[in-house]
Amino acid sequence: MSYAFLNGEFLPLSEAKVGVMTHALHYGTSVFEGIRGNWNSEQEKLYIFRLKEHYQRFLQGCKVMRIKVPHTAEELSEITLELVKLSGYRQDIYIRPLAFKGEERVAVLKLQDLTDALVIFPIPLGAYLDLDTAIRCCTSSWRRMEDTMIPPRNKIGGLYVNSILAKTEATLAGFDEAILLTNEGYVSEGAGENIFMVMNGKLITPSVSDNILAGITRDAVIQIAKNELGVETVERSMRRSELYNADECFLTGTAAHLTPVGSIDNILVGDGEMGPITKKLQDLYFDVIRGRVPQYLHWGTVAPIVAAKDSL
Ligand code: PMP
Repeated sequence: MSYAFLNGEFLPLSEAKVGVMTHALHYGTSVFEGIRGNWNSEQEKLYIFRLKEHYQRFLQGCKVMRIKVPHTAEELSEITLELVKLSGYRQDIYIRPLAFKGEERVAVLKLQDLTDALVIFPIPLGAYLDLDTAIRCCTSSWRRMEDTMIPPRNKIGGLYVNSILAKTEATLAGFDEAILLTNEGYVSEGAGENIFMVMNGKLITPSVSDNILAGITRDAVIQIAKNELGVETVERSMRRSELYNADECFLTGTAAHLTPVGSIDNILVGDGEMGPITKKLQDLYFDVIRGRVPQYLHWGTVAPIVAAKDSL
């Protein structure tokens, strides 16, 4: 059973409720994170991936949205470990911290006038996109939110209407995922993932000035590619047609892991299958997140879990 931490209290997730007048529900005045716990069945350990980095990004976002969180990144990490232990999961999980304007007032009010709330809870989560077969993407008719509108580098609740409109359009048209372009027509990112292409043995990914979320998985993949495969990543603006002409393409994200892309706008990328560099990176990445690679163990926090016989 999942537990939640709501405004300082641990309680069953089913009992963690807010009122219908909550400001964030009406106006998207919230900041959230997505953190994965990856189960290693041989070791019977749950590795939480880059926990502290997620909470650092979370607190940055809260600062921008003027949401006061009465905890440090270390304290939030401790609370999360306690929640995972209480919930008793022995499988892949997803942890959702959400800080929001919890005041029950319906009006477009100043952020500084509204009271804050915090909830954190874990839920079981397997694969989000297909990890074995290369997925089909399309470029969205929705452009990625600009930094001049809502800061795209913070995970702000209201910002995600942009991603969700794109995902909805893509899936209704029969694609698996949407790729959003910037207003100037450069490639930005997937609805909930960063994007990479492989070109002549190098990785290329949009730079942080192309309205992307600077993904923690993106950073991990850049480091793994360099250190383990000797493959460099160039961060620069990318054109849509470069994707059509790429040798390989993949998406990265906490939920999506490292997902191969086989076609974009019905144009095959390479031969349409998962490419060799993508496959090598994906295998390495899965070993890293499940605590099988000694040099990356510092990225994993081993969660205290209950023994199998005592699990809920
Ligand atoms: N872009 C967007 C819009 C996202 O929502 C996510 C998921 N957090 C990502 C990229 C990937 O970021 P990360 O690797 O930190 O999960």
